[in-house]
Amino acid sequence: MQYNNEKKKILIVMTGGTIAMKDTPNSGIVPTTDFVDFLHSFPQLNSVANVEMIEFSNVPSPYMTPQKMLELAQMIDLKIVDYDGAVVTHGTDTLEESAYLCDLVLTTRKPVIFTAAMRSGSDLGLDGPRNIIGAVRVASSHESMDKGVMVVMNDEIHTARDVSKADTGKVDAFVSRGYGPLGYVDPDRIVYHRQTLYRESVWTDKIEQNIDLIKASAGIDGRYIRCSMQHGVKAIVIEAFGRGNLPRDIIPDIKAAIEQGILVVITSRTQTGRVLPEYGYDGGGKNLQDCGALLAGDMKGIKIRLKLMALFGKYQNADTVRRFFLQSIE
Ligand code: ASP
Repeated sequence: MQYNNEKKKILIVMTGGTIAMKDTPNSGIVPTTDFVDFLHSFPQLNSVANVEMIEFSNVPSPYMTPQKMLELAQMIDLKIVDYDGAVVTHGTDTLEESAYLCDLVLTTRKPVIFTAAMRSGSDLGLDGPRNIIGAVRVASSHESMDKGVMVVMNDEIHTARDVSKADTGKVDAFVSRGYGPLGYVDPDRIVYHRQTLYRESVWTDKIEQNIDLIKASAGIDGRYIRCSMQHGVKAIVIEAFGRGNLPRDIIPDIKAAIEQGILVVITSRTQTGRVLPEYGYDGGGKNLQDCGALLAGDMKGIKIRLKLMALFGKYQNADTVRRFFLQSIE
């Protein structure tokens, strides 16, 4: 198939992950150094774009930290000046977090596309090469400008904001639940079929890492909140039940945290939908809001935590963060 795009100059930034790993007889699937050679010897790649490569790291993505994600974004912002777009190869496990933090802090309008592989280099039916070609083609498309950071997996294009890894092993593990992909990588062209309406930036060169995420489960009490308070956190994100509800016994600890100046932000442990101040019983969403907790709309816990890290890094002060946070929640 001949591709329609004129050849663009695309930078591939490698961070590691299964896409750069192989299965070994005694040590399981581990990072290799052959990935760069593999990319160099991958003829289709240079037929779709003029590609150059740079290694940021070669780590499994559970080793990524918010600070490393920020450094990755800073590297991309500096380097992309000399390219038409960038593709980031990453492990799937924390890809949605790296992509989202980059989406918040990157200042470039050029396409930055994250991709990965669900199967290692020694697996049958490996998906990495196809995903990389797809990502490079999306990065080369003029329609990809100004769309924020996107994720290309399994011939689908997702926003960094909405995508999540929803399966531990399947090649179609990445989904945008509730919204669907932005578009597709088809053999003849890149097809966008919807717009990104919710995008925001927090242009910061620092992040605040001391922000915790707590997931509610039946019978949860305040011990995790007390632990977070003892560690001097700036904010606590709670993935509450349903519309944003919690048991009543946790309320005294939430109130104590808020009185100490800690931002308490409520999201839902459900996969889609917004949290709302609907229920007025002790621990219900309305009651939590009345106690001073913030409700986080449709955003999920791991991404709200990163957004607070960026907001605290930029503004430092809890009250300013609260005001910026509230104006950005839909
Ligand atoms: N554990 C691996 C990682 O995230 C999985 C992957 O790359 O897909 O690095």
